[in-house]
Amino acid sequence: MTMVIHDSYSRRKVELPAPPGRLGMYFCGPTVYQRIHIGNARPFVLSMWLKGWLTLRGYDVKLAENVTDINDRIYVAARAQGIGSAELARQATAWYIEDTSALGLGRPDTEPLASETVTEIIALTSELMSRGLAYQAGGDVYYRVARFPEYGRLSGVQREAMIAQEPEDRKEDPRDFALWKTWKADEDTWWDSPWGRGRPGWHIECSAMAEKHLGTGFDIHGGGLDLRFPHHENELAQSRGAGREFARWWLHNGMIEMGAEKMSKSLGNIVPLRDALDRWGREAILVFFMGAHYRSPIEYSEASLQAARAQADDFRNAFRVAAARPSDLTWEHLAAALDDDFDTPRALAILHGWRAAGRLDLLARGLAVFGLAIDQGGTDRSPEASRLAEERQAARARRDYAEADRLRGQIEGLGWEVQDIPGGFRLIPKTG
Ligand SMILES: [Zn+2]
Repeated sequence: MTMVIHDSYSRRKVELPAPPGRLGMYFCGPTVYQRIHIGNARPFVLSMWLKGWLTLRGYDVKLAENVTDINDRIYVAARAQGIGSAELARQATAWYIEDTSALGLGRPDTEPLASETVTEIIALTSELMSRGLAYQAGGDVYYRVARFPEYGRLSGVQREAMIAQEPEDRKEDPRDFALWKTWKADEDTWWDSPWGRGRPGWHIECSAMAEKHLGTGFDIHGGGLDLRFPHHENELAQSRGAGREFARWWLHNGMIEMGAEKMSKSLGNIVPLRDALDRWGREAILVFFMGAHYRSPIEYSEASLQAARAQADDFRNAFRVAAARPSDLTWEHLAAALDDDFDTPRALAILHGWRAAGRLDLLARGLAVFGLAIDQGGTDRSPEASRLAEERQAARARRDYAEADRLRGQIEGLGWEVQDIPGGFRLIPKTG
């Protein structure tokens, strides 16, 4: 069986080609002007989990996840703080790396910066102009939406909604969007181009970065559902318009909600990832994300994080589970759940089943897929107790129960309790 994912473009489940083979994945990363919030962490977590799972399935995965370090919001935030925009972008990039690294999932294979890709952005913009898909108006360059009939297919957004984006008198058509923006007097960074001093628009940055690092055609393009329009619609129009194959499949994650509201800066209900990490710990955050399917919205609340924290503790302390209940859940059950559009709630239930059954071998292997682990200290912390437990096991094997009991007492004296389990023993720290 091969993995199936829900493609947001065709709005149906598609089967990945059977492994082995290369898979290129591009996920839109953050615009860096402040510490990222817990909602920005969701696509990062999803991309790292998916990369890990696909790698385990035998694919050679390359994950590119960009950093948008040229953007209107960076100028605005830097001005408000009285610092340079390049300095703020550098600082906020470092925060982003620091906070997402604390999730313990590793890093994408490449994390390109828009500011390092300006040459490619200018070349792609020029190519679109030569194809009649872009035009210059003053020092700006706009994408000519009317010349790309496929526009709107990805997002399903209707013409009236499109007209709302980027109002600007110089455009031929209200739907057109900027590929290059002319320099304004209060902007402290700029690049030279055939159209004068200025900077790239947001959408063209991703088209150029994806192509530079994954080639003209790649497999999976991911990001938050809020990016589907206009950002992804525009990326697709630019790259396909320039004759590239671009992404074969699109994958969008649901938003984080606070009560009934979407978490957003304008509503003032942002929770920085840093604060969530300090308060709940990385494992609780990972279990929290596992609890909802990636395409569904997920509610961030005191109660949902407390519940996730309790589950994370249960997994960490799984070595304390004494009574093994039978379970017929195999590794194939977990694989089937993840191969079915990465169904993490189902995977989470299977992990709990293994935990309750004392199937620590399967549990450890399953938790590792999500960057989680059982507390190995339970057996590793005391080589002396382990040695005595092995002696005790040998004594039991030769039916020398008096010796076995004597050894049990010695082990307890070291602060450990020994439990007999099928095929061996387990040491757990003595409580009380
Ligand atoms: Zn993007």
